[in-house]
Amino acid sequence: MSKSKENRLILVCNDDGIFSKGIRALVEVAQRFGDVVVVAPDRQQSAVGHSITIMDPLRAQAFEMKNGMTGMAVNGTPADCVKLATDQLLDRKPDLVLSGINHGSNAGINIIYSGTVSAATEGTILGYPSIAVSCMDFNEEADMSGAQEAAARAVQFVFDNGLPKGITLNVNAPAGPFKGIKWTRQGDSRYTDEYIPRKDPMNKPYYWITGRLEILDEGPDVDVNVLKDGFASVTPIQYDLTAYRVFKAMSEMEL
Ligand code: MN
Repeated sequence: MSKSKENRLILVCNDDGIFSKGIRALVEVAQRFGDVVVVAPDRQQSAVGHSITIMDPLRAQAFEMKNGMTGMAVNGTPADCVKLATDQLLDRKPDLVLSGINHGSNAGINIIYSGTVSAATEGTILGYPSIAVSCMDFNEEADMSGAQEAAARAVQFVFDNGLPKGITLNVNAPAGPFKGIKWTRQGDSRYTDEYIPRKDPMNKPYYWITGRLEILDEGPDVDVNVLKDGFASVTPIQYDLTAYRVFKAMSEMEL
């Protein structure tokens, strides 16, 4: 990218909503690289994946936080925010879409449920270089200094090298400082023991999702394992879900 810092526009979104600590942490990073516009959900939208709003109108409300962060709060999903921002709310096209910093890991199978990752993926679909950033700590007051450092490294990488068409960077970091930063691949994993059954005051059962991440892939280059060892993780991901690994062989078989 040949643009100077002064000419760059960075769109920041997330899925935890405009009131989260994580989005403020990411705005701080983004401000080092250019002008920043925040367009993010007006409420918690974690695990909404890539859903978009089609049956209700969207509204965007300008806000200004006590810390000086300004932007637009949207009554929609993370993917809605990126679509609406680039189509209607921004007065020029962004040079980068940043999503996060999510409170909680978006490594392994979490990627597929993640609203944070989907905001970045939407940026990629629309043709903008895009990065999702997550911190492994769910705590509202999580130490995101390491995740900020990992985000800055990824942003610098993207401004130096660009990104191949259709590719999003998915960045994860432990809470606090990390030992180093590594390229990784998405680890095969799944949740087990997912629901806790309880009884409501009418003695009817209800179920609350919880669960434990089971890692099915012990490779040293796997995102969840690298994070467990205290490193930050950067995974190139793609929204093209075609299974190229089997496409050729299967397409030669009779249907
Ligand atoms: Mn979230």
